[in-house]
Amino acid sequence: MKFADLGLSDELLQSVLDAGYDTPTAIQAQAIPSVLMMRDIIGIAQTGTGKTASFVLPMIDILAHGRRRALMPRSLILEPTRELAAQVAENFEKYGKNHDLKMALLIGGVQMGDQVKALSDGVDVLIATPGRLMDLFERGKILLTGCELLVIDEADRMLDMGFIPDIETICSKLPPNRQTLLFSATMPPVIKKLADKFLSNPKYIEV
Ligand code: AMP
Repeated sequence: MKFADLGLSDELLQSVLDAGYDTPTAIQAQAIPSVLMMRDIIGIAQTGTGKTASFVLPMIDILAHGRRRALMPRSLILEPTRELAAQVAENFEKYGKNHDLKMALLIGGVQMGDQVKALSDGVDVLIATPGRLMDLFERGKILLTGCELLVIDEADRMLDMGFIPDIETICSKLPPNRQTLLFSATMPPVIKKLADKFLSNPKYIEV
């Protein structure tokens, strides 16, 4: 299996080759075509399996073919920690260098003013930790009704950190017909329940 077999655009394939990769990992080979077909996904995969690119790559192609609306983020990636959020942002920069996509990183420990300003320019990809996102949401600084693609990454770590109630609130603010991708290293009952409630006919991938 080659990256060229997964349905990604030629432009994006070039960015992947430039990054030095030509063979997709197992999670990438199974997830990328389904994400491009707009399916919901449950991906059981550890860090180190290449799972970040398995959602970042198809998201870039999906977002590159739509229109940006001011103040309304088009997609949202939830990460349990600032470090993971920053890593995902780096992946977007690396693979998205040939695409005009706007990204905003909403994490704790950073001045809220700069983050609010980034939102006002219009955002394709919002990468956030649940705490800071909820804070901005409760202050009325962010609208999630235009967000058609949601990624819940490291769901079991979200559970360990007590973020599940925040995630439930955030999910309920997004349009119900959105696409949702959930990744977790393990599938404890609380995460299974979350997936049953917020994903629709997901493809289950375990690597
Ligand atoms: P992740 O599981 O997303 O944290 O990725 C783990 C590491 O694998 C990162 O350093 C990536 O740069 C690298 N990686 C991602 N995709 C591939 C691939 N298809 N081939 C080789 N390495 C990869």
